[in-house]
Amino acid sequence: MRPVDKGGDSSEFKPYQKAQQPLLLQLGEYCSYCERWIASGIHVEHKKPKNDYPEDKYLWSNFLLSCSNCNSGKGHGELNLEDHIWPDCDNTFRAFIYDIEGRVLPEDGYDSGLNEKIRNTWIMLGLNKHPDRFTSGNELPSEKDKRWLHRKQAWQKATKRKQELSVNDTPARRSEIVEMACERGFWSVWMTVFHDDADMRQRLIAAFKGTCSQCFDGDLQPIQRPGGKI
Ligand SMILES: [Zn+2]
Repeated sequence: MRPVDKGGDSSEFKPYQKAQQPLLLQLGEYCSYCERWIASGIHVEHKKPKNDYPEDKYLWSNFLLSCSNCNSGKGHGELNLEDHIWPDCDNTFRAFIYDIEGRVLPEDGYDSGLNEKIRNTWIMLGLNKHPDRFTSGNELPSEKDKRWLHRKQAWQKATKRKQELSVNDTPARRSEIVEMACERGFWSVWMTVFHDDADMRQRLIAAFKGTCSQCFDGDLQPIQRPGGKI
């Protein structure tokens, strides 16, 4: 999951829909959770559900952007922010593994407390949904939930582009590839496919609006986010 920097705007937005444009400007037109590009109908997402936490309904700190699949899957009810990891607070790129089949796996190499937060997040957002039965906790997606498929297609596209680069590697071609990535989203998939190409990683971090650059070291490898749980 792409770690993002929302900026320091602590103001209130009433009605909360007024935050949509500033969020889009800061983060690009991507779901903050599944990372797909959304042509229209992107929701202002409340990390703490707006009906259950009316005091946080208009707060910038409680906002992200989400698609209808991530939004509806997340649901309502009591939610302790500390029990999960969040793309605007943590280096969420360190929390999940993306693969060729469009699957997302929780990274479980941390201490048990953190592993649990990652797993909670994986389930809460439906990132565990995939038609393959691949690990415990994974669930089948509904007919309408094609996030896994679009992730898989992004992987295939990224792999093809990477192969093409191996025969025709120019700066111009590299920027075209990054443009292509920006048009569809799934930043984490592109970052994973280009894991051994620091130049491409740098370009992807710079090109996707709002990516938190503090989450990467000089070699563009993910590091602990300052102040974050991961
Ligand atoms: Zn989504």
